[in-house]
Amino acid sequence: MSVSLTTTAVPVSSGATPAAEGAVAQAFRRCRDLGMRLSRQRRMVLELLWSDRRHLSARDIFERLNAQGRNIGHTSVYQNLEALQSAGVIECLDRASGRLYGYRSDPHSHLTCLQSGEIEDLDVVLPEELVQQIEDITGYSIESYTLQLYGRRRA
Ligand SMILES: [Zn+2]
Repeated sequence: MSVSLTTTAVPVSSGATPAAEGAVAQAFRRCRDLGMRLSRQRRMVLELLWSDRRHLSARDIFERLNAQGRNIGHTSVYQNLEALQSAGVIECLDRASGRLYGYRSDPHSHLTCLQSGEIEDLDVVLPEELVQQIEDITGYSIESYTLQLYGRRRA
């Protein structure tokens, strides 16, 4: 059996890549379609998540935006994140240390580094035979799945 795997690499350069700009434009459109107001603060939060492409806490996002000279209050960051996650525009992970938010809202898997706590997005495609086996055992027809993987960087 083989497992196909792709990782969404974090861009090394700072600032949004053209692809990321396209994606954030999609997020803006998604908000408009859902009837959500696109305030200046909401756009800032979305732009940061789409350019950073990591899982960040409300505090991380607040600090990063203010470090970029973008004036936004902590409450506003928090309220926008909650509104965006409950509308399904962004993802939200509940961790023991608090909530983390990410730019992807489609089903995907996570690899957590046991050393740094960093969480990487992964697209794992399980072999068809394995999905079939799970369906046979459970009597369910599987529509989506996400895997939680934990590990340490190899020396
Ligand atoms: Zn994620």
